[in-house]
Amino acid sequence: MSFRNKIILLLLVAIGISAVFPAFSLYEMNSFDKDFKVYVGERVNEYVNTSEMNKSLIRYDSNLWKFVASGNPNWLKDAQEAKRALERNIAELLQVAEGNIELTSAVQRIQTMQEEYFRKAEVIAQSRGTIEEKSSKLTKEYNEILVKVFNETNRLNELKQNKLREASVSVREQVNYLKEMGAILAAIFLPILIALGIVIYVTTASPIEKLTKIIKSVSENDFKDMSAVVKGSEEFIEKRKSNDEISRLARALRNFGQQIEDKTRELENLVITDEKTKLFNFRHFKSELQAEIARAKRFGEAVSLIMIDADKFKHYNDTNGHILGDEALIKMAKLMKSLCRETDKPARFGGEEFAILLPRTTKEEAVVLAERIRKAIEDAVFVNQEKQPGGNFTASLGVASYPEDCTDAETLINAADKALYKAKEKGRNRVETAPSLI
Ligand code: GH3
Ligand code: MG
Ligand code: MG
Repeated sequence: MSFRNKIILLLLVAIGISAVFPAFSLYEMNSFDKDFKVYVGERVNEYVNTSEMNKSLIRYDSNLWKFVASGNPNWLKDAQEAKRALERNIAELLQVAEGNIELTSAVQRIQTMQEEYFRKAEVIAQSRGTIEEKSSKLTKEYNEILVKVFNETNRLNELKQNKLREASVSVREQVNYLKEMGAILAAIFLPILIALGIVIYVTTASPIEKLTKIIKSVSENDFKDMSAVVKGSEEFIEKRKSNDEISRLARALRNFGQQIEDKTRELENLVITDEKTKLFNFRHFKSELQAEIARAKRFGEAVSLIMIDADKFKHYNDTNGHILGDEALIKMAKLMKSLCRETDKPARFGGEEFAILLPRTTKEEAVVLAERIRKAIEDAVFVNQEKQPGGNFTASLGVASYPEDCTDAETLINAADKALYKAKEKGRNRVETAPSLI
Protein backbone atom coordinates (compact mmCIF):
# COMPACT_ATOMS: atom_id res chain seq x y z
CA MET A 1 0.00 0.00 0.00
CA SER A 2 1.35 3.41 -0.92
CA PHE A 3 2.17 5.90 1.79
CA ARG A 4 -0.53 8.30 0.53
CA ASN A 5 -3.21 5.58 0.73
CA LYS A 6 -1.97 4.59 4.18
CA ILE A 7 -2.39 8.17 5.42
CA ILE A 8 -5.88 8.39 3.86
CA LEU A 9 -6.89 5.11 5.52
CA LEU A 10 -5.52 6.24 8.87
CA LEU A 11 -7.44 9.51 8.58
CA LEU A 12 -10.67 7.69 7.72
CA VAL A 13 -10.21 5.38 10.71
CA ALA A 14 -9.51 8.36 12.98
CA ILE A 15 -12.57 10.26 11.67
CA GLY A 16 -14.73 7.13 12.01
CA ILE A 17 -13.64 6.49 15.56
CA SER A 18 -13.98 10.10 16.65
CA ALA A 19 -17.49 10.26 15.12
CA VAL A 20 -18.74 7.10 16.88
CA PHE A 21 -18.57 8.45 20.40
CA PRO A 22 -20.36 11.80 19.87
CA ALA A 23 -22.93 10.17 17.59
CA PHE A 24 -23.68 7.44 20.09
CA SER A 25 -23.80 9.91 23.01
CA LEU A 26 -26.08 12.22 21.05
CA TYR A 27 -28.43 9.38 20.26
CA GLU A 28 -28.46 8.20 23.88
CA MET A 29 -28.96 11.71 25.25
CA ASN A 30 -31.73 12.42 22.79
CA SER A 31 -33.72 9.27 23.59
CA PHE A 32 -33.15 9.75 27.30
CA ASP A 33 -34.32 13.37 27.07
CA LYS A 34 -37.50 12.28 25.27
CA ASP A 35 -38.28 9.51 27.78
CA PHE A 36 -37.62 11.80 30.70
CA LYS A 37 -39.92 14.54 29.37
CA VAL A 38 -42.74 12.05 28.86
CA TYR A 39 -42.19 10.65 32.32
CA VAL A 40 -42.09 14.03 34.03
CA GLY A 41 -45.21 15.07 32.10
CA GLU A 42 -47.08 12.01 33.36
CA ARG A 43 -46.00 12.55 36.96
CA VAL A 44 -47.01 16.21 36.86
CA ASN A 45 -50.49 15.23 35.62
CA GLU A 46 -50.86 12.76 38.47
CA TYR A 47 -49.88 15.40 41.00
CA VAL A 48 -52.30 17.88 39.54
CA ASN A 49 -54.98 15.21 39.78
CA THR A 50 -54.39 14.32 43.42
CA SER A 51 -54.14 17.93 44.59
CA GLU A 52 -57.25 18.77 42.52
CA MET A 53 -58.96 15.85 44.18
CA ASN A 54 -58.16 17.10 47.64
CA LYS A 55 -59.35 20.60 46.73
CA SER A 56 -62.62 19.28 45.29
CA LEU A 57 -63.14 17.16 48.36
CA ILE A 58 -62.73 20.18 50.64
CA ARG A 59 -64.99 22.21 48.32
CA TYR A 60 -67.62 19.50 48.50
CA ASP A 61 -67.41 19.26 52.22
CA SER A 62 -67.56 23.00 52.88
CA ASN A 63 -70.48 23.47 50.43
CA LEU A 64 -72.34 20.67 52.13
CA TRP A 65 -71.74 22.30 55.52
CA LYS A 66 -72.96 25.59 54.12
CA PHE A 67 -76.07 23.85 52.81
CA VAL A 68 -76.67 22.24 56.18
CA ALA A 69 -76.20 25.58 57.94
CA SER A 70 -78.28 27.71 55.55
CA GLY A 71 -80.63 25.22 53.92
CA ASN A 72 -79.89 27.00 50.61
CA PRO A 73 -80.11 24.33 47.87
CA ASN A 74 -77.55 26.25 45.73
CA TRP A 75 -74.82 25.09 48.13
CA LEU A 76 -75.95 21.54 47.64
CA LYS A 77 -75.67 22.06 43.84
CA ASP A 78 -72.17 23.41 44.31
CA ALA A 79 -71.32 20.43 46.49
CA GLN A 80 -72.61 18.05 43.82
CA GLU A 81 -70.57 19.96 41.21
CA ALA A 82 -67.46 19.35 43.35
CA LYS A 83 -68.47 15.67 43.64
CA ARG A 84 -68.59 15.34 39.82
CA ALA A 85 -65.19 16.97 39.56
CA LEU A 86 -63.95 14.42 42.09
CA GLU A 87 -65.39 11.56 40.06
CA ARG A 88 -63.58 12.90 36.97
CA ASN A 89 -60.33 13.11 38.96
CA ILE A 90 -60.76 9.53 40.15
CA ALA A 91 -61.46 8.38 36.60
CA GLU A 92 -58.33 10.15 35.34
CA LEU A 93 -56.23 8.72 38.16
CA LEU A 94 -57.50 5.22 37.40
CA GLN A 95 -56.54 5.72 33.77
CA VAL A 96 -53.03 6.87 34.73
CA ALA A 97 -52.63 4.03 37.22
CA GLU A 98 -53.68 1.42 34.66
CA GLY A 99 -51.38 -1.57 34.79
CA ASN A 100 -50.08 -0.62 38.25
CA ILE A 101 -51.97 -2.85 40.67
CA GLU A 102 -50.83 -1.06 43.80
CA LEU A 103 -51.84 2.39 42.54
CA THR A 104 -55.09 1.17 41.05
CA SER A 105 -56.18 -0.51 44.27
CA ALA A 106 -55.20 2.63 46.26
CA VAL A 107 -57.28 4.83 43.97
CA GLN A 108 -60.16 2.35 44.04
CA ARG A 109 -60.09 2.34 47.84
CA ILE A 110 -60.31 6.13 47.86
CA GLN A 111 -63.13 5.95 45.31
CA THR A 112 -65.16 3.52 47.47
CA MET A 113 -64.64 5.57 50.63
CA GLN A 114 -65.53 8.80 48.84
CA GLU A 115 -68.71 7.29 47.42
CA GLU A 116 -69.67 6.02 50.87
CA TYR A 117 -69.09 9.45 52.34
CA PHE A 118 -71.05 11.18 49.57
CA ARG A 119 -73.94 8.83 50.10
CA LYS A 120 -74.01 9.19 53.86
CA ALA A 121 -73.28 12.94 53.88
CA GLU A 122 -76.06 13.68 51.41
CA VAL A 123 -78.55 11.57 53.32
CA ILE A 124 -77.61 13.40 56.52
CA ALA A 125 -77.66 16.82 54.82
CA GLN A 126 -81.11 16.27 53.36
CA SER A 127 -82.63 14.56 56.45
CA ARG A 128 -84.89 16.35 58.81
CA GLY A 129 -83.53 17.53 62.10
CA THR A 130 -81.80 20.47 63.65
CA ILE A 131 -78.60 21.93 62.34
CA GLU A 132 -76.83 20.71 65.47
CA GLU A 133 -78.03 17.14 64.97
CA LYS A 134 -77.01 17.15 61.31
CA SER A 135 -73.68 18.79 62.17
CA SER A 136 -72.81 16.21 64.75
CA LYS A 137 -73.75 13.36 62.37
CA LEU A 138 -71.73 14.93 59.54
CA THR A 139 -68.79 15.44 61.87
CA LYS A 140 -68.97 11.79 62.83
CA GLU A 141 -68.98 10.70 59.19
CA TYR A 142 -66.30 13.22 58.39
CA ASN A 143 -64.12 11.79 61.10
CA GLU A 144 -64.85 8.22 60.12
CA ILE A 145 -64.61 8.41 56.36
CA LEU A 146 -63.27 11.69 55.06
CA VAL A 147 -60.21 11.72 57.30
CA LYS A 148 -59.53 8.21 56.00
CA VAL A 149 -59.94 9.51 52.43
CA PHE A 150 -57.43 12.25 53.11
CA ASN A 151 -55.09 9.73 54.66
CA GLU A 152 -55.49 7.44 51.68
CA THR A 153 -54.88 10.33 49.29
CA ASN A 154 -51.75 11.21 51.22
CA ARG A 155 -50.71 7.57 51.06
CA LEU A 156 -51.33 7.68 47.32
CA ASN A 157 -49.10 10.70 47.10
CA GLU A 158 -46.48 8.85 49.09
CA LEU A 159 -46.74 5.98 46.68
CA LYS A 160 -46.21 8.41 43.86
CA GLN A 161 -43.30 9.95 45.68
CA ASN A 162 -41.81 6.48 45.85
CA LYS A 163 -42.42 6.15 42.15
CA LEU A 164 -40.65 9.47 41.62
CA ARG A 165 -37.81 8.30 43.79
CA GLU A 166 -37.62 5.17 41.68
CA ALA A 167 -37.65 7.36 38.61
CA SER A 168 -34.82 9.48 39.93
CA VAL A 169 -32.88 6.30 40.67
CA SER A 170 -33.47 5.17 37.09
CA VAL A 171 -32.38 8.63 35.87
CA ARG A 172 -29.22 8.30 37.90
CA GLU A 173 -28.71 4.80 36.51
CA GLN A 174 -29.09 6.11 32.97
CA VAL A 175 -26.67 8.94 33.62
CA ASN A 176 -24.21 6.45 35.14
CA TYR A 177 -24.69 4.21 32.13
CA LEU A 178 -23.85 7.14 29.86
CA LYS A 179 -20.80 7.90 31.97
CA GLU A 180 -19.67 4.28 31.77
CA MET A 181 -20.25 4.28 28.04
CA GLY A 182 -18.09 7.41 27.80
CA ALA A 183 -15.38 5.78 29.87
CA ILE A 184 -15.52 2.55 27.83
CA LEU A 185 -15.41 4.47 24.56
CA ALA A 186 -12.52 6.57 25.85
CA ALA A 187 -10.77 3.37 26.93
CA ILE A 188 -11.18 2.05 23.38
CA PHE A 189 -10.63 5.34 21.60
CA LEU A 190 -7.49 6.43 23.44
CA PRO A 191 -5.45 3.24 22.78
CA ILE A 192 -6.57 3.41 19.14
CA LEU A 193 -5.39 7.01 18.93
CA ILE A 194 -2.11 6.02 20.58
CA ALA A 195 -1.81 3.08 18.17
CA LEU A 196 -2.47 5.44 15.26
CA GLY A 197 0.25 7.73 16.53
CA ILE A 198 2.66 4.79 16.85
CA VAL A 199 1.75 3.53 13.36
CA ILE A 200 2.33 6.98 11.86
CA TYR A 201 5.60 7.28 13.78
CA VAL A 202 6.84 3.82 12.80
CA THR A 203 5.79 3.98 9.16
CA THR A 204 6.70 7.58 8.41
CA ALA A 205 8.44 9.71 10.99
CA SER A 206 11.01 7.13 12.02
CA PRO A 207 11.94 6.00 8.47
CA ILE A 208 12.16 9.61 7.31
CA GLU A 209 14.41 10.35 10.26
CA LYS A 210 16.60 7.37 9.33
CA LEU A 211 16.80 8.51 5.71
CA THR A 212 17.67 12.01 6.90
CA LYS A 213 20.50 10.57 8.98
CA ILE A 214 21.74 8.62 5.96
CA ILE A 215 21.68 11.78 3.82
CA LYS A 216 23.36 13.76 6.59
CA SER A 217 26.27 11.32 6.61
CA VAL A 218 27.19 12.69 3.16
CA SER A 219 27.86 16.19 4.35
CA GLU A 220 29.64 14.94 7.46
CA ASN A 221 31.85 12.63 5.47
CA ASP A 222 33.55 13.43 2.24
CA PHE A 223 31.14 14.03 -0.62
CA LYS A 224 33.19 11.54 -2.61
CA ASP A 225 32.56 8.80 -0.07
CA MET A 226 29.00 7.70 -0.67
CA SER A 227 29.51 4.19 0.73
CA ALA A 228 27.66 5.08 3.97
CA VAL A 229 24.69 6.32 1.94
CA VAL A 230 24.67 3.28 -0.34
CA LYS A 231 25.08 0.84 2.54
CA GLY A 232 22.60 2.66 4.79
CA SER A 233 19.88 2.90 2.15
CA GLU A 234 20.52 -0.72 1.09
CA GLU A 235 19.88 -1.91 4.66
CA PHE A 236 16.87 0.40 4.90
CA ILE A 237 15.33 -1.08 1.70
CA GLU A 238 15.92 -4.64 2.90
CA LYS A 239 14.22 -3.98 6.22
CA ARG A 240 11.28 -2.06 4.80
CA LYS A 241 8.68 -4.48 3.50
CA SER A 242 6.16 -2.13 1.90
CA ASN A 243 6.82 -0.67 -1.51
CA ASP A 244 5.67 2.87 -0.77
CA GLU A 245 6.97 6.36 -1.46
CA ILE A 246 9.50 6.10 1.36
CA SER A 247 10.91 2.86 -0.07
CA ARG A 248 11.08 4.47 -3.49
CA LEU A 249 12.86 7.45 -1.97
CA ALA A 250 15.36 5.08 -0.30
CA ARG A 251 15.95 3.30 -3.62
CA ALA A 252 16.44 6.62 -5.40
CA LEU A 253 18.89 7.59 -2.67
CA ARG A 254 20.78 4.31 -3.01
CA ASN A 255 20.96 4.68 -6.81
CA PHE A 256 22.03 8.29 -6.46
CA GLY A 257 24.79 7.30 -4.01
CA GLN A 258 25.84 4.41 -6.25
CA GLN A 259 26.05 6.69 -9.28
CA ILE A 260 28.08 9.28 -7.40
CA GLU A 261 30.40 6.53 -6.17
CA ASP A 262 30.82 5.17 -9.70
CA LYS A 263 31.43 8.66 -11.09
CA THR A 264 33.89 9.40 -8.33
CA ARG A 265 35.78 6.18 -9.03
CA GLU A 266 35.73 7.00 -12.73
CA LEU A 267 37.07 10.49 -12.02
CA GLU A 268 39.74 9.12 -9.68
CA ASN A 269 40.80 6.66 -12.35
CA LEU A 270 40.81 9.39 -14.95
CA VAL A 271 43.09 11.49 -12.77
CA ILE A 272 45.67 8.71 -12.42
CA THR A 273 45.35 7.10 -15.86
CA ASP A 274 47.16 7.86 -19.09
CA GLU A 275 44.46 8.45 -21.67
CA LYS A 276 46.22 6.74 -24.56
CA THR A 277 47.65 3.59 -23.01
CA LYS A 278 45.32 3.29 -19.97
CA LEU A 279 48.41 2.70 -17.80
CA PHE A 280 49.08 4.94 -14.79
CA ASN A 281 50.19 8.45 -15.75
CA PHE A 282 53.49 9.96 -14.78
CA ARG A 283 52.04 12.01 -11.88
CA HIS A 284 50.54 8.95 -10.21
CA PHE A 285 53.64 6.91 -10.96
CA LYS A 286 55.78 9.46 -9.14
CA SER A 287 53.62 9.58 -6.04
CA GLU A 288 53.47 5.77 -5.95
CA LEU A 289 57.24 5.62 -6.33
CA GLN A 290 57.70 8.00 -3.38
CA ALA A 291 55.32 5.95 -1.26
CA GLU A 292 56.95 2.63 -2.17
CA ILE A 293 60.44 3.90 -1.45
CA ALA A 294 59.25 5.20 1.94
CA ARG A 295 57.65 1.84 2.64
CA ALA A 296 60.74 -0.06 1.51
CA LYS A 297 62.90 2.10 3.74
CA ARG A 298 60.62 1.48 6.74
CA PHE A 299 60.40 -2.30 6.27
CA GLY A 300 63.87 -2.83 4.77
CA GLU A 301 62.42 -4.17 1.54
CA ALA A 302 63.54 -3.90 -2.09
CA VAL A 303 61.85 -1.83 -4.83
CA SER A 304 62.75 -2.21 -8.49
CA LEU A 305 62.13 -0.09 -11.52
CA ILE A 306 62.13 -1.05 -15.19
CA MET A 307 62.36 1.70 -17.82
CA ILE A 308 61.23 0.74 -21.31
CA ASP A 309 61.79 2.75 -24.49
CA ALA A 310 60.58 1.78 -27.98
CA ASP A 311 63.51 1.40 -30.34
CA LYS A 312 63.69 3.75 -33.32
CA PHE A 313 60.18 4.91 -32.69
CA LYS A 314 60.71 8.12 -34.60
CA HIS A 315 61.35 5.98 -37.61
CA TYR A 316 58.21 3.96 -36.97
CA ASN A 317 56.19 7.16 -36.71
CA ASP A 318 57.73 8.67 -39.78
CA THR A 319 57.14 5.46 -41.77
CA ASN A 320 53.63 4.62 -40.62
CA GLY A 321 52.16 7.84 -39.32
CA HIS A 322 51.12 8.88 -35.83
CA ILE A 323 47.95 6.79 -35.73
CA LEU A 324 49.80 3.50 -36.23
CA GLY A 325 52.48 4.87 -33.87
CA ASP A 326 49.81 5.32 -31.20
CA GLU A 327 48.50 1.80 -31.80
CA ALA A 328 52.02 0.43 -31.33
CA LEU A 329 52.28 2.29 -27.99
CA ILE A 330 48.90 0.85 -26.90
CA LYS A 331 50.05 -2.65 -27.87
CA MET A 332 53.26 -2.26 -25.86
CA ALA A 333 51.20 -1.12 -22.88
CA LYS A 334 48.91 -4.16 -23.12
CA LEU A 335 51.87 -6.53 -23.30
CA MET A 336 53.45 -4.95 -20.24
CA LYS A 337 50.23 -5.06 -18.25
CA SER A 338 49.59 -8.70 -19.14
CA LEU A 339 53.02 -9.70 -17.84
CA CYS A 340 52.89 -7.66 -14.62
CA ARG A 341 51.58 -8.79 -11.25
CA GLU A 342 48.55 -7.13 -9.67
CA THR A 343 50.79 -5.22 -7.27
CA ASP A 344 53.12 -3.93 -10.02
CA LYS A 345 52.49 -0.45 -11.34
CA PRO A 346 53.10 0.00 -15.05
CA ALA A 347 53.03 3.67 -16.13
CA ARG A 348 53.57 5.77 -19.18
CA PHE A 349 56.62 7.83 -18.40
CA GLY A 350 56.24 10.13 -21.37
CA GLY A 351 56.34 9.84 -25.21
CA GLU A 352 57.32 6.27 -26.14
CA GLU A 353 58.89 5.65 -22.75
CA PHE A 354 57.35 3.48 -20.03
CA ALA A 355 58.25 2.65 -16.45
CA ILE A 356 57.18 -0.27 -14.28
CA LEU A 357 57.37 0.07 -10.51
CA LEU A 358 57.84 -3.28 -8.78
CA PRO A 359 57.22 -3.18 -5.02
CA ARG A 360 58.94 -5.83 -2.90
CA THR A 361 60.93 -7.02 -5.92
CA THR A 362 64.68 -7.63 -6.10
CA LYS A 363 66.85 -6.64 -9.02
CA GLU A 364 67.17 -10.27 -10.18
CA GLU A 365 63.41 -10.73 -10.21
CA ALA A 366 63.02 -7.41 -12.06
CA VAL A 367 65.53 -8.48 -14.70
CA VAL A 368 63.57 -11.67 -15.29
CA LEU A 369 60.37 -9.67 -15.84
CA ALA A 370 62.23 -7.11 -18.03
CA GLU A 371 63.56 -9.89 -20.19
CA ARG A 372 60.08 -11.38 -20.52
CA ILE A 373 58.70 -8.03 -21.61
CA ARG A 374 61.51 -7.45 -24.09
CA LYS A 375 60.89 -10.89 -25.57
CA ALA A 376 57.15 -10.33 -25.76
CA ILE A 377 57.64 -7.06 -27.66
CA GLU A 378 60.14 -8.67 -29.91
CA ASP A 379 57.80 -11.58 -30.62
CA ALA A 380 54.65 -9.53 -31.04
CA VAL A 381 53.66 -8.52 -34.53
CA PHE A 382 53.45 -4.75 -35.04
CA VAL A 383 52.08 -3.34 -38.31
CA ASN A 384 54.92 -2.71 -40.77
CA GLN A 385 57.51 -3.85 -38.21
CA GLU A 386 59.62 -5.21 -41.09
CA LYS A 387 60.17 -1.61 -42.22
CA GLN A 388 62.01 -0.85 -38.95
CA PRO A 389 65.84 -0.58 -39.16
CA GLY A 390 66.40 -4.03 -37.58
CA GLY A 391 63.47 -5.56 -39.46
CA ASN A 392 61.47 -5.86 -36.21
CA PHE A 393 59.66 -3.70 -33.65
CA THR A 394 61.67 -3.87 -30.45
CA ALA A 395 62.29 -2.03 -27.18
CA SER A 396 65.23 -1.46 -24.87
CA LEU A 397 64.93 -1.86 -21.09
CA GLY A 398 66.90 -0.60 -18.10
CA VAL A 399 66.57 -2.10 -14.63
CA ALA A 400 67.55 -0.51 -11.31
CA SER A 401 66.73 -1.37 -7.68
CA TYR A 402 66.51 0.21 -4.28
CA PRO A 403 68.54 -0.09 -2.06
CA GLU A 404 71.09 -1.80 -4.31
CA ASP A 405 71.63 1.05 -6.80
CA CYS A 406 70.35 4.21 -5.20
CA THR A 407 69.24 6.07 -2.07
CA ASP A 408 65.85 7.55 -3.00
CA ALA A 409 63.13 7.84 -5.64
CA GLU A 410 64.98 10.33 -7.81
CA THR A 411 68.25 8.40 -7.90
CA LEU A 412 66.29 5.21 -8.65
CA ILE A 413 64.84 6.84 -11.79
CA ASN A 414 68.30 8.11 -12.74
CA ALA A 415 69.83 4.66 -12.29
CA ALA A 416 67.11 2.98 -14.40
CA ASP A 417 67.51 5.71 -17.00
CA LYS A 418 71.22 5.07 -17.14
CA ALA A 419 70.63 1.35 -17.53
CA LEU A 420 68.24 2.09 -20.41
CA TYR A 421 70.81 4.37 -22.02
CA LYS A 422 73.32 1.54 -21.72
CA ALA A 423 70.89 -0.82 -23.49
CA LYS A 424 70.46 1.70 -26.34
CA GLU A 425 74.22 2.16 -26.58
CA LYS A 426 74.84 -1.57 -26.68
CA GLY A 427 72.60 -1.89 -29.75
CA ARG A 428 68.97 -1.83 -28.46
CA ASN A 429 66.48 -4.72 -28.00
CA ARG A 430 68.10 -5.70 -24.76
CA VAL A 431 67.87 -5.48 -20.97
CA GLU A 432 70.59 -3.72 -19.03
CA THR A 433 70.98 -3.20 -15.31
CA ALA A 434 72.10 0.01 -13.72
CA PRO A 435 75.61 0.62 -12.61
CA SER A 436 75.40 1.21 -8.89
CA LEU A 437 75.07 4.91 -8.08
CA ILE A 438 76.01 4.47 -4.47
P1 GH3 B 1 65.62 5.43 -29.85
O1 GH3 B 1 65.69 4.05 -30.33
O2 GH3 B 1 66.97 6.01 -29.57
O3 GH3 B 1 64.75 5.55 -28.67
O4 GH3 B 1 65.05 6.24 -31.02
P2 GH3 B 1 63.64 6.92 -31.11
O5 GH3 B 1 63.34 7.27 -32.42
O6 GH3 B 1 62.67 5.99 -30.44
O7 GH3 B 1 63.84 8.12 -30.16
P3 GH3 B 1 63.48 9.62 -30.35
O8 GH3 B 1 63.50 10.23 -28.95
O9 GH3 B 1 64.36 10.20 -31.33
O10 GH3 B 1 62.06 9.62 -30.91
C1 GH3 B 1 60.87 9.39 -30.10
C2 GH3 B 1 59.68 9.59 -30.99
O11 GH3 B 1 58.50 9.14 -30.32
C3 GH3 B 1 59.50 11.03 -31.33
C4 GH3 B 1 57.98 11.26 -31.22
O12 GH3 B 1 57.44 11.66 -32.44
C5 GH3 B 1 57.47 9.90 -30.89
N1 GH3 B 1 56.41 10.00 -29.94
C6 GH3 B 1 56.46 10.42 -28.64
N2 GH3 B 1 55.23 10.34 -28.08
C7 GH3 B 1 54.37 9.84 -29.02
C8 GH3 B 1 53.01 9.52 -29.06
O13 GH3 B 1 52.30 9.67 -28.08
N3 GH3 B 1 52.51 9.00 -30.22
C9 GH3 B 1 53.24 8.80 -31.32
N4 GH3 B 1 52.74 8.27 -32.43
N5 GH3 B 1 54.53 9.10 -31.32
C10 GH3 B 1 55.11 9.61 -30.22
MG1 MG C 1 62.72 7.88 -26.12
MG1 MG D 1 62.82 5.38 -28.42
